[in-house]
Amino acid sequence: MIQLFIPLNFLGFVYREIRRALTDLENMLGLLSRASAIQDAPDAAPLVLQTGRVEFKQVMFGYHPDRAILKGFSLSVPAGSKVAVVGASGAGKSTLARLLYRFYDVWDGVIEIDGQDIRKVTQSSVRQNIAIVPQDTVLFNASIRDNVAYGCPTATEAEIAEAIRMAQLDGFIAALPDGDQTMVGERGLKVSGGEKQRIAIARVLLKNAPIVVFDEATSALDSKSEGAILDAMRTVAANHTTLVIAHRLSTVTDADQIVVLDGGQVVEQGRHEALLKLNRRYAQLWAMQQRERLEG
Ligand code: ADP
Ligand code: MG
Repeated sequence: MIQLFIPLNFLGFVYREIRRALTDLENMLGLLSRASAIQDAPDAAPLVLQTGRVEFKQVMFGYHPDRAILKGFSLSVPAGSKVAVVGASGAGKSTLARLLYRFYDVWDGVIEIDGQDIRKVTQSSVRQNIAIVPQDTVLFNASIRDNVAYGCPTATEAEIAEAIRMAQLDGFIAALPDGDQTMVGERGLKVSGGEKQRIAIARVLLKNAPIVVFDEATSALDSKSEGAILDAMRTVAANHTTLVIAHRLSTVTDADQIVVLDGGQVVEQGRHEALLKLNRRYAQLWAMQQRERLEG
């Protein structure tokens, strides 16, 4: 009787853990609300990845038919380059990431990866080739190691260790009692915003997708933790096509190209110095944030 009781009890525990992990996963990917919204075309073939060039062409999109958010948005992200989109809160920056990951389809215009319309290839092949560092990273109730390896079941221990090192998490982990086996998440060790973001960056490094999107990856951080994230972001950007979405401009000053999104369109575009010289929207945003920095 006792022998039977223990395994059943244990199974109940495992079941609850699995349910919980699935719920976390669904929340993270927004699948609960969106899973069935987008369907593969009947003849969809996998994306044929060449270099990882991303192109938004005259994209029109809104969440409600009577309110367009993007109104003819065009942006080219050459393979291997780092392009930044900046703009006010609510301008539609995160919407760009959601459209590229194909949580939604555009109303008009097209999004292409290496010249292929993402609506005409399988969603899974699009998502395999894109890694996103979100604004708020969700950690599972699992070890740090498993949180980094999440999404990459085939990763070797050496690859995981390398991702941890490149994301500058090794020092943090070395100081923990159980090292990378330390449990994190709601019911484990509380980690800071900066550490969470570095775990997200380690995930992205491990996934090694050719296209990486940072969506306000440093917005919740103080300047000190921001520095470590910026270093880790540069490591990622050096080897991938990178789209950086930012409200805080300190993450974009080194971008190959910066575009300012306003009213659903690109209103300015260029490198940091050129946009400062232009002395319009970007320069205003920059001046405002410099003041905040000094005052804060
Ligand atoms: P940003 O990232 O630039 O702050 P978002 O792309 O998140 O802006 O949002 C752009 C606009 O779309 C905002 O007005 C926002 O309220 C609206 N929006 C975002 N997500 C949804 C949604 N799921 N349903 C309806 N409106 C949304
Ligand atoms: Mg956003």
